[in-house]
Amino acid sequence: MESIYLDNNATTRVDERVFTAMRPYLTHQFAHPSSPHLLGIKVREKIEQARDSVAVLLGTSHPDEIVFTSGGTESINTAIRGVLAASPTRNHIVTTKVEHISVLKLCLYMANHHYRITYLPVDRQGTLNLEELRRSLTDSTAIVSVMWANNETGVVFPIEEIGEIVKERGILFHVDAVQAVGRIPINLRNLSHVDLLSLSGHKFHGPKGVGALFVRRGTKLHSLIVGGPQEGMRRAGTENVASIIGMGKAAELASICLDEEKTRVRYLRDRLERGIIEQIQGTRVNGNLNERIPNTTNVTFGGCGACNVLKGMEMYGVYATSGAACTGGLDPSHVLMAMGLTPPDALSSIRFGLSRYNTQGEIDYVISILALIAKNLKTGVSVPATASA
Ligand code: PLP
Repeated sequence: MESIYLDNNATTRVDERVFTAMRPYLTHQFAHPSSPHLLGIKVREKIEQARDSVAVLLGTSHPDEIVFTSGGTESINTAIRGVLAASPTRNHIVTTKVEHISVLKLCLYMANHHYRITYLPVDRQGTLNLEELRRSLTDSTAIVSVMWANNETGVVFPIEEIGEIVKERGILFHVDAVQAVGRIPINLRNLSHVDLLSLSGHKFHGPKGVGALFVRRGTKLHSLIVGGPQEGMRRAGTENVASIIGMGKAAELASICLDEEKTRVRYLRDRLERGIIEQIQGTRVNGNLNERIPNTTNVTFGGCGACNVLKGMEMYGVYATSGAACTGGLDPSHVLMAMGLTPPDALSSIRFGLSRYNTQGEIDYVISILALIAKNLKTGVSVPATASA
C-alpha cells in the first residue's frame, strides 16, 4: 500500500534534484572547504553558491547575511542567546505563547538565568494583539522573537507591522520563519525591521540537520558555537558541506515553486478542508482562515479524539499528526490551548500539512476514509484493519 504523507510541517521529502546535487559531496568531492588547494576551493565555491540561493529565496542582496547552522533550533538559539550575550544591560525577552518548543524551552531556560520573559497571548483565531506587544516593550527589552507561521495551525503573524512596533523602541527583532520559508514569499529587502530570521532545510524539501540564520549587516551578535573562523566567525566548525549544498538546491527549487504553493497546494488544502467540513459533522477548522500558509490546516474532529482518528488513518496508509502526544492523550497542544480551545477539543484536533507532492486523488481518498473513520468512531465501530475505502 502506497502511503499518503500529510505531515509536511514536521518534515518534507528530499527532492530528487536535491539528492543529486548532494551526492558528489558525500563521495568523491570530499575536500575540506577551508583547504587552500584546488579541490578545497571548488567545494568552497559550491557552499557560496548555496549561500547565494538561500539569499535569493529570502530576498536579500547580501549573501554574507546568511549563516549556515545545523537547523532551525540552532538558528533560534544563536539568534536569541547571541543577542542577549551582546546586550548585557538588557534582560527582557518578548515572545508569544504559541511559539515552537525550541523558542519556549530556551525562554524557560533563560528565565532560570535571571531573564524576564513576556509571553504574548493570542486570540481565538491565533492572532496577536499588537497593542499588547507595544505595551510589553521596555527599555530593558533586548529582543522580540516571534514566529512567521505557526507550525500547528499555519496562522501567519503580521511581521511587517510587528517589526515597525519593535523598531520604534530600537529593539532587535528575530523571526522564526521555519514554517514560512518556501511556502510564502519572503522579501527581507522590504522588511528592514527584521534583524534575524531562522530557517530549516528539511521544511522545504532539503535535508535534515541543516539550516540558516539570516543576520542583517550591523546586528550585534555573539557566536553560540566557538572555535574555527567559519561562517564569518559567527558559527564555528567544519561545514556540513553536502547538506548545505542540498539546502542551496532546495532553496533554488523553492524560489521556483512558490507559485505552485500559492495555487495548487492551496487548492488541495482547501479541497481537503471543505471535504472534511461538509462530510463530517462536528468538525471545525482552527485559526485565522485568511492569514495562513497555503499548505496547512488544523481541524477539530468533535467527539472523535485525534489519536483515534490518526490510528484509523494509519490503517489506510495516511499520515498526519496532532499537537498532542498520542501516549495517553494527556497533553493538549499549547498552541490550541492558548487559542482558547477546551482540552477535549484540543485533544481532538489534527494538523494536515500538504506539499507539492500531494495529488487531488490522494486528497479525495483521505476525505473518504476520514468520513468512514469518524462515522465508525461515533457509532462505536472499531476501525477495519485493512483499507477498503
Ligand atoms: N520553529 C518551528 C516553527 C518549527 O516548526 C520547527 C520544527 O518543527 C523548528 C523551529 C525547529 O527546526 P529544526 O527541526 O530544524 O530544529
